[in-house]
Amino acid sequence: MNKYASVTVEINHTDLDRTFQYEIPDELQGEIRTGSSVLIPFGKGNRLIHGYVVDFTDIPEIDPSKIKKIYSIKTDNLSVEAQLMHLAGWMREYYGCTMIQALKTVMPVKESVRPMVEKTIRLLLSAEELEEKIAFCEKKHQVAKLRLLLALKEDREIPQRIALDRLSITAATVKSMVTSGWIAVDEARKMRTPLSIREEGRYGVHLNEEQTAAVKRFVEDFSTGKRGTYLLHGITGSGKTEVYMEIIEKVITAGKQVIILIPEIALTYQTVMRFYRRFGDVVALVNSKMSKGERFDQFSRAERGEASIMIGPRSALFTPFSNLGLIIIDEEHEHAYKSENVPRYHAREVAIVRAELAGASVVLGSATPSISDYYRAKQGEYTLLTLNRRAVENSRLPEVEVIDLREELQNGNKQIFSRRLTELIEDRLEKKEQIMLFLNRRGYSGFISCRSCGKSIKCDHCDVSMTMHRDGKMRCHYCGSEKYIPKICPSCGSRYIAGFGTGTEKVEQLVQNAFPQAGVLRMDMDTTSKKGSHEAILSAFSQHEADILVGTQMIVKGHDFPKVTLVGVLAADLSLFAQDYTAASTTFNLLTQAAGRAGRGDCPGNVIIQTYNPEEYPIVCAAAQDYPEFYRNEILYRKMLHYPPFYKMLTIQYMSEDEGLIEHRIQELALIAKRIVEANRWQVEILGPTDGSISKVKDVYRKVIYFKSNNGKHLETLKKQLEEAVSIEHTIQIRYDWNED
Ligand code: ADP
Ligand code: ZN
Ligand code: ZN
Repeated sequence: MNKYASVTVEINHTDLDRTFQYEIPDELQGEIRTGSSVLIPFGKGNRLIHGYVVDFTDIPEIDPSKIKKIYSIKTDNLSVEAQLMHLAGWMREYYGCTMIQALKTVMPVKESVRPMVEKTIRLLLSAEELEEKIAFCEKKHQVAKLRLLLALKEDREIPQRIALDRLSITAATVKSMVTSGWIAVDEARKMRTPLSIREEGRYGVHLNEEQTAAVKRFVEDFSTGKRGTYLLHGITGSGKTEVYMEIIEKVITAGKQVIILIPEIALTYQTVMRFYRRFGDVVALVNSKMSKGERFDQFSRAERGEASIMIGPRSALFTPFSNLGLIIIDEEHEHAYKSENVPRYHAREVAIVRAELAGASVVLGSATPSISDYYRAKQGEYTLLTLNRRAVENSRLPEVEVIDLREELQNGNKQIFSRRLTELIEDRLEKKEQIMLFLNRRGYSGFISCRSCGKSIKCDHCDVSMTMHRDGKMRCHYCGSEKYIPKICPSCGSRYIAGFGTGTEKVEQLVQNAFPQAGVLRMDMDTTSKKGSHEAILSAFSQHEADILVGTQMIVKGHDFPKVTLVGVLAADLSLFAQDYTAASTTFNLLTQAAGRAGRGDCPGNVIIQTYNPEEYPIVCAAAQDYPEFYRNEILYRKMLHYPPFYKMLTIQYMSEDEGLIEHRIQELALIAKRIVEANRWQVEILGPTDGSISKVKDVYRKVIYFKSNNGKHLETLKKQLEEAVSIEHTIQIRYDWNED
């Protein structure tokens, strides 16, 4: 029990270092935590003011007799600010970071920006003129203008922010189109209410039986004041988004606010506009490319009550809504919901804590839920809502065929396309339909190896294989360093060096050679590193500027291309070999999502999964589009090998340029942990220490130690005690990770 608390009275994180020490009265010991909102006597007159606890200590900063006592602690009816403070306090303790780091994540930066006027772009052209201009831009290849015109063809008015941001249109393009008299930009904001939009009859989807049942279940709970976590499991194209929108409508009609998390990569113009069309101006948007000022601006709109729906990636979770009613997490299985920076929080966990503080509910949605969440739903901890059918009439699930690549080879086919896939590609090209070819590259890269000694060429700074590029160079995808491909093997001197496996770039080339008549687009890390290029490729493909889109997992997320009737997965197995207990579910998710891209329009789709392991259950189940069956297999494996959800798992990683030092220190950590566990007779398995799965990145070595326990509390306490017991050189970076999937 610490004697003193450091209290901040200013929630502006440039001022966070200016804290004041207060004594914790005995009766409040045990109740007070980081983030607690407290009343404190302040200044000469001892005026009672509000403050937040950010730290604890036993060391007085001034004469102890001069330290005042905390007056009281507030626990009910917390303001948004207090809620976010509590959340930061929880994150500090659970994820193991400093309070400052937690607060910086949770609190928006207050910057003096002029509030942005919400402008609207309005089309001035008649339908006929519009077609003319579209043809003109097509001919002149003015793609940005074309993108905006096509969007305006759908909606005659578009919020400028959404157009600039999600369509990657520059202010200059808008200006030039204004000058040409094609569009006008209205500064005055029109509050378009959801009601008026519905009266215009623009929203005409009638929910089907399954969707209605899901909505009903949520709404009944919500209106009787029951709050909780829901898992909406719906196959791809089953109409989950429509369910969200119906639920949102109910929540905002009740005067509450909603946060919708969508992974950045699926946060396309189409997705955002779907919400905008239904709810109008009350929709606000944040994304990771925004400047701090822009983001603060959007958060301010939320705080002032101008927006009641916030859409965005992970960080939207911290929108300062004062009357939050619901948090939706779409594609909840996505890895992007886990933060790569300290605090290494998972949006799902934080959402549930924030919802509890705010008296809100959480809806998690996915076609391939995380195993742990589905388990919790099965156990009754979450409410399970299910959509088993595709929403659009006549849209059937695609027909999936698994092709055994070993057989192809036996039959003399050395190409990367099986005979069946080639046949279907030719068929679709003839019918002028579109094709997506997906290369599973997770945990794999088109690496270069020696055929004589079998060694692959690694980056000098990282423990990863270099990737081959067309220009005779190879590149490290971790640190970006480049080198020419050597003529002889650095290990044995052999001249037989070759690129192994196939990168997207190579596939693009092979596709072009095999089908010279086809237009091919490629989407991967290399082609999307420039701002806006991601949107540009997607929009080009959706306008049928190309017949075939080749890409990595980027192309399988949430996009809806009605003309795609064939999806080919070139090598399904690569992610199966990742050294991680989630390898099977990662593979199943990728394949299921990829298959879900086919046949979204009127034509039924085909999916070809090429693999060397056709009997592995992630592949069999993905081909059958059978999540429950996959779950039955996977949950047994998790149970048998003591993985989540049965065991809670913590990874502690040490990183330093000094390999000897971290080796030494992590051994110490292991010893201390063992002693604590034995002294308390806890059920905790300790694995390692060992090298990280990638043992070196940018010349920084990584060592890890894993802890598993079927008693989560033991593990959480162990982590806290380790944090206190271990003090190490500042040249070592420590990372705590809860493994939750
Ligand atoms: P998901 O989010 O589950 O992939 P969406 O909500 O995007 O599915 O729906 C897929 C498609 O089906 C969309 O084009 C959507 O407009 C349409 N849709 C959804 N529900 C219905 C419905 N009840 N009636 C007709 N079309 C629907
Ligand atoms: Zn060699
Ligand atoms: Zn490197």
